Amino acid sequence: MAPTEKPELIDTHAHLDSSDYDHDRAVVIARAFAARIGVITVGVDLPSSEAAVQLAHRHRLIWAGVGVHPHDAKTFDEKVEQGLRELAREGKVVAVGEIGLDYYRDLSPRAVQREALIAQIELANELGLPVIIHNRESTANMLAILRNHRPQRGVIHSFLGDAALAREFLALGLYLGIGGPLTFAKNDVLRQTVTGLPLERILVETDSPYLTPVPYRGKRNEPAYVRYVVAEIARLKGITPEEVAAATTKNACHLFSLSPVA
Ligand SMILES: [Zn+2]
Repeated sequence: MAPTEKPELIDTHAHLDSSDYDHDRAVVIARAFAARIGVITVGVDLPSSEAAVQLAHRHRLIWAGVGVHPHDAKTFDEKVEQGLRELAREGKVVAVGEIGLDYYRDLSPRAVQREALIAQIELANELGLPVIIHNRESTANMLAILRNHRPQRGVIHSFLGDAALAREFLALGLYLGIGGPLTFAKNDVLRQTVTGLPLERILVETDSPYLTPVPYRGKRNEPAYVRYVVAEIARLKGITPEEVAAATTKNACHLFSLSPVA
């Protein structure tokens, strides 16, 4: 697309620095841009946050999140925090994330995950940035932390819960990130939830290279496939994919202060 053209869609959560793209990253990015899709690529530790920022500096329609994922929380310390703070000053960093809790895989001790999450919410508030939150089998602790250490703005990435949980997060002022799992056969509850969600609080995402939507499930995911998530939201809500694209792009621009499409 031409340098001044606006994107039609924003994939608000991808890991473009993943080694899964080492052999064809430029092609994957070109396919997203050809489909008029902008991308927020998110780090999971300090080195991948640096890689995300480098990608954002090279491409007008890529922005970066910097943060330490709960799996990597054991690597979080004051030095890493200072590294994230310095990265965030470089421009094109639009969020602190991916941060959160993951009690499913427990790759870092839970107390360490909680400490890293709280420190990074406070960092985001200090920097005036939104947070990108990962929450897996940790909802009770997550809600308690979000209530006590209120992020100014943010999104629950890859939201998979029911309508009651959606209401809890919405009441905290957060957006809900909806991705490929919406298209999985087993996820009737999620489809029911999304049907009733206010469109003005939904973001679309891929979590590329993971969570590939139907019809590509089982293959590597990429930002261009965010269209299948949009199509499913449109089907559930009985509106057009263009309406979902326009609303979710507006939401993403608002939450992350993306200037080219303001
Ligand atoms: Zn992710």
